[in-house]
Amino acid sequence: MNTFKVHTDSPQQTIRQGKHLAHFLRPGDIVCLFGDLGSGKTTFVKGLAEGLRIKKARVVSPTFVLMNIYEGKLPLYHFDFYRLNEVSEIALLGYEEFLYGQGISVIEWAERFKDLMPRENVSIYFVHKGAHERELRFNAKGYRYKNIARQKF
Ligand code: ADP
Ligand code: MG
Repeated sequence: MNTFKVHTDSPQQTIRQGKHLAHFLRPGDIVCLFGDLGSGKTTFVKGLAEGLRIKKARVVSPTFVLMNIYEGKLPLYHFDFYRLNEVSEIALLGYEEFLYGQGISVIEWAERFKDLMPRENVSIYFVHKGAHERELRFNAKGYRYKNIARQKF
């Protein structure tokens, strides 16, 4: 298990972190995001999208659906389980096709995935430190993510 922390002082810096991570991701990779409302998860996804050559303006939290798909260098499957009532709704999405497919999956409120959460993933915990400060705690679990922790963020 590899862990490291990054501080950001602005949304732009959080976007940059997402963009940076995107360069190390490969088809089928899974990024799980945790943290309170407003802690910067969606902001980070905008950076991931930018890194995959998707216009970041297109990235919005899926409000009425649990997932958005953006087409870029690779497809980005953006899940947001904030409005999830029951874990059975995830099964109805046919999520496996996406999660174990050829795109990149990023999941906000990943803790709501419960037992369905793949054990190997990059987990990032977002913590409010001030009006514009956030701490991003990375935790790369599993063999395919071992290179991520070696990169300078
Ligand atoms: P979440 O998806 O976790 O609910 P959002 O990314 O939608 O959070 O919102 C984060 C809010 O905090 C935005 O309004 C953003 O402008 C603001 N913000 C301030 N500082 C930062 C920072 N360092 N990183 C990310 N967002 C920040
Ligand atoms: Mg969000």
